[in-house]
Amino acid sequence: MTIHADGNREEGNMRRAIALGTLLAAGTLVLAATSRPANQEPRTVTIQSMDVRENLYVVSGGGGHTAVLVTETDGVVLVDTKLAGWGQSILEAVQAITSQPVTVIINTHTHGDHVGGNADFSATVEIVAHENAATRMAGMDAFAGAGAEFLPDRTFGDTLTLFEGRDQIDLYYFGTGHTDGDTVVVFPALGTAHMGDLFAFLGPPYIDVGNGGSGVAYPDTLDRIVASIAGVRRVIPGHIPPPPGSPMRGWTTWDDLREYARFNRDFLEAARASKEAGRSVDEAVAALDLWARYPEYGMDRAAANMQAIYDELGQ
Ligand SMILES: [Zn+2]
Repeated sequence: MTIHADGNREEGNMRRAIALGTLLAAGTLVLAATSRPANQEPRTVTIQSMDVRENLYVVSGGGGHTAVLVTETDGVVLVDTKLAGWGQSILEAVQAITSQPVTVIINTHTHGDHVGGNADFSATVEIVAHENAATRMAGMDAFAGAGAEFLPDRTFGDTLTLFEGRDQIDLYYFGTGHTDGDTVVVFPALGTAHMGDLFAFLGPPYIDVGNGGSGVAYPDTLDRIVASIAGVRRVIPGHIPPPPGSPMRGWTTWDDLREYARFNRDFLEAARASKEAGRSVDEAVAALDLWARYPEYGMDRAAANMQAIYDELGQ
């Protein structure tokens, strides 16, 4: 069944459409929300329930995955806001499932495809991020001048807990990896974590050295996460798209995260061994033997990461 609602609502020069559909992945509900800025391509996101009873959703499209928690009494909490200009699509998707206002935004890290939509929400929304991410964000063009209003209002160093009971959200910082300000967001009552881009996709991760990322520290950070957090079964990754042809799946599992931590450890060890053996970066990539053990992993970034790790280990 598809319900298409379009056209009757116009605000400014934005025309919006919401298509409501169902998709039959084990009790989950999928809605598609499209905002259509004048003279631009429509921006379509999909919102999928992690479990209808639990009020946790994943919004996909337009940048990193956005998690949506509809709390019992404190409004709607978003984790990440996608690329600039996509906040309206997130809002449309949220409004399709609840009349509660967005009250809190958690930004997992400084990248524009995770914080860009902040400016599309009310300035009264509380924005939360790790202190290093907040510092990095303050240096972004998007947050210069009037944009500074959409910088984090609240920061933390190691951990921060928001709300309680079913709505509890635990924020953790375990060290550098993708950047130097990556937050792990855990919904303990729901057994679910949003990993941001610490775990963005299956393959060598993007190591943003310019924003404090580290390929040498990355496996340690992931190991600390796996060792420290208990009770999480489902993991919302930064970007992993739904597998082609399969029902939409905006999440993966704790076992997948564990495997990904192992992969990053194996990659670093291979880099160290090759460097010690005097191999060039190209030779080190050619010598990698991870393909057989991690068949689902894309290796597009292997050379870039080998170079980044070589640079970090020193010539
Ligand atoms: Zn990122």
